[in-house]
Parts: sequence; C-alpha cells; structure tokens
Amino acid sequence: MSTPLEFFEYKKGILSTGGVSLDHVADHVGTPCYVYSAEGFLKPLQELKKGLKGLDSLICFAAKSCSNIAILDLVAKAGAGVDLVSGGELFRAGLAGVSPQKIVFSGVGKTPGEMATALEFGEAGIFAFNVESVSELATLSTIAEELGRTATVALRFNPDVNAKTHPAVSTGLKKHKFGMSRAEILKIAEGIESFPGIALAGISLHIGSQLLSLAPLKDAFILTRELIEELDTILPDLIRFVDLGGGLGITYSKEKPPTIAQYCALIAKQFGPKSPLKRRLKILIEPGRLISGNAGVLLTEVLYRKVRKDKDFLVVDAAMNDLLRPALYGSHHEAVPVFAMPKGPRKKTDIVGPVCETSDCFAAERPLPKALNQGDLVAILSAGAYGFSMSGNYNSRPRAPEVLIREGKIRVIRDRESYEDLVKGERLE
Ligand SMILES: *Cc1c(COP(=O)(O)O)cnc(C)c1O
Repeated sequence: MSTPLEFFEYKKGILSTGGVSLDHVADHVGTPCYVYSAEGFLKPLQELKKGLKGLDSLICFAAKSCSNIAILDLVAKAGAGVDLVSGGELFRAGLAGVSPQKIVFSGVGKTPGEMATALEFGEAGIFAFNVESVSELATLSTIAEELGRTATVALRFNPDVNAKTHPAVSTGLKKHKFGMSRAEILKIAEGIESFPGIALAGISLHIGSQLLSLAPLKDAFILTRELIEELDTILPDLIRFVDLGGGLGITYSKEKPPTIAQYCALIAKQFGPKSPLKRRLKILIEPGRLISGNAGVLLTEVLYRKVRKDKDFLVVDAAMNDLLRPALYGSHHEAVPVFAMPKGPRKKTDIVGPVCETSDCFAAERPLPKALNQGDLVAILSAGAYGFSMSGNYNSRPRAPEVLIREGKIRVIRDRESYEDLVKGERLE
C-alpha cells in the first residue's frame, strides 16, 4: 500500500528523498517544480512483479499518469511495458526506447494516423490495440490491410460493473463511452472474418481509477473470464491474452486501498493455474497511479499569508495549471512544510494558487502552523500521477520543471518552460 510519505521523509528536519533534501532541489531549479523519487516508481513495480510471479504476465505502465520520457525509460529498464492513449504518448515511448512488443494502445478515439504509426512502430508494430468499438475495428482493419499488416487486437469489454470511485474516473458502466458489451463482442467474434486486417487475440478491461475495493474488480474479472469461455466456442483462433487494465487506488489521505499482494492474488485466482478457466492466458495489467502517484510531489513556495479572522490563505507559487486534480475532481492532497515546524499554534488555512479561479485551491481549511509564512517551502504530496501530465499553461504560466532523484543525484528531466515556449507557434495577424 503506497502512502504520501512513503518515499519522502524528514531527515534532520528537512523533507528529503533518496538522500536529497527538497530545499536543495528548490535552490537548483526554483519553484514550483515536480520532484520524483526513482525508488517510488520502482518499488510498486517490483511488488507487482513479485505478486504475479509464476504467471505469464506483462506490466504496462499507464503513460498518461506520468509521461516524461525519463520516467518511461526508468520503468522500461525495470522490465515494464507501456499502455498508451495517443500518438503523442507513442512518440514518447519511442524516445524512451520502450520495446514495441511491450506497448498496448488504449483509448476510444484513436485516429487513422495514430493507427498507422502504431502498426509500423519499430519493426513489427506494437503488441496490441485495445479496440473500443466496431467502427474503430473496421477502420483499423482497413488501415492494416492497406499497410500489408495484421493488427493484433484486444476488444475492450465494458462489464457494466460499478467501480465505486469518483464518477469522473469510473469507466466500466454501460452508460460510459468506454468498451463494448458482451453482446457486441460476441457479435464481432461471430463475424471476425469480415475484419481481414485484424488478429483478435485478447480481451481488455479497465473499469476505473483510484479503486479502493477489490470487489468490483473481482466481479469484472469473473465476467471477463466467462466471456472468454464463450469466445472459445466461437473463435477459430482462441484468445491468447487478457489485459486487466489499471485502476488500483493509493493512499492520498487516510484511504486504505487493497494491497498489491491482495490484487495479484485476485488476478491469480481468476486467471492463474487454479482458475476455472481451462487454459492459461498471458496476463497484462495497466497500472498508472499505483506506480507514479506517491513517487512525486509538487514543491512550491509561499508567496503571501493573507490573514483573515476565521481562516488564513497561504498563496503559493504553484497553481491549478500545475496540478489540476483538486480543481477538477475536488481531490485531496496532503500538504506539508519542507522544514519541519516546531509545535506551535495552528490556524484553519487554505493553500491557494495565483490563478484567477476560486477552484485554484490545493488544500481547503487545513489546520496548518501559523508559523508557515512568506518564503517557506511546501510540498504537495501524492502528485506523481496525473500531476505534471495534466498540467497546462492557463494564465500564461510556464509549466514547471520535473526533477528525478535517484541514488542521491538530482536529474532535471524537464526544464521549466520559458515565455518563448508559451508563444511557440503563435504569430501576429
Ligand atoms: C487511465 C488508464 C489506466 C491507468 O489507470 P490508473 O488508475 O492510473 O491505474 C489504465 N488503462 C486505461 C485504459 C486507462 O485509460
């Protein structure tokens, strides 16, 4: 179970990671900035590998959660593949040297151009496309034929299971845009010869994100297993792999998500040697947040304390353009001072950014030390997933740099954007 301070700790009173104190990072690249712990990515990956030992498995890191090429390189070198959702992410995977045969391409709206690039990526193209509709399948088939290739495909199954997570990141209900119903998939299988450019080899699944219970996953896995059993009676060439998606939750505050060991045990039970399924399949998973979430923090400096009667505001130099989750989903992130504060009076405080939106608030009504003031550093925790990767330039704010800490060394893996970067491609008239 990954927790906000698992990879960041106070050493001699200063928040540090991998032997480097965060004030040192702030001196080096300024604030706001994203700070990642290499160990933070590698530990959950290793735990997953351990949990899936003995199964024919592939862990595909969901690139959209944290897509810097140095991060993709880090997880690839640790043996992982990548789950992509766009041509841009495929380009990143290429720069990071991810093995094409460890790449799966998900998403409801792949363009013909993205399909062609992925089919020709590397020598043999990517491992598989997770296809989400009949019309997408037809388009992919046509493009593959035109290129003289065969597209390896998993059909994304929407099991109509309630993931019981935030509605914005729940994806496995009938009303959601994602995947296909059992009936739609069976119909495709019955007419699979009408898609000559396609090799139907898998079933994929992803019911949502930040899941805090295994129960919906279990329901979805059982329905998937039953669907594969039905497909076995229809398809000339049997399904070879199942992609169980990502979604396992992490601790942002006090949540108690299932452990990686429990998650892997569920996978083994449904698809491993003791599964009711008579034959063995290759098993893919697509964890994002589980790997990146608690591996990163957003480091920011207090610009002003605005004192009010009932609650104060700490205005910091990071904003919603840097970390969108609180504004977008009302997400909770712990916020801690980089220099541990001696016990003293506290006051209800909002930590807010400079952007002209009331939703530009990282932490609402937290009891924070009154001593925290102008010039102090604050770390917004659990910001590794959907942090930088969701950041933007609203209010014409250059995006923050990203820094990776590994074995006591600071590596700037992305520079702070300049004002010139902000206007790149714009022209007068
Ligand atoms: C976003 C996404 C993931 C990763 O989700 P996490 O909750 O970060 O693990 C995996 N698979 C697909 C298809 C996704 O869209």
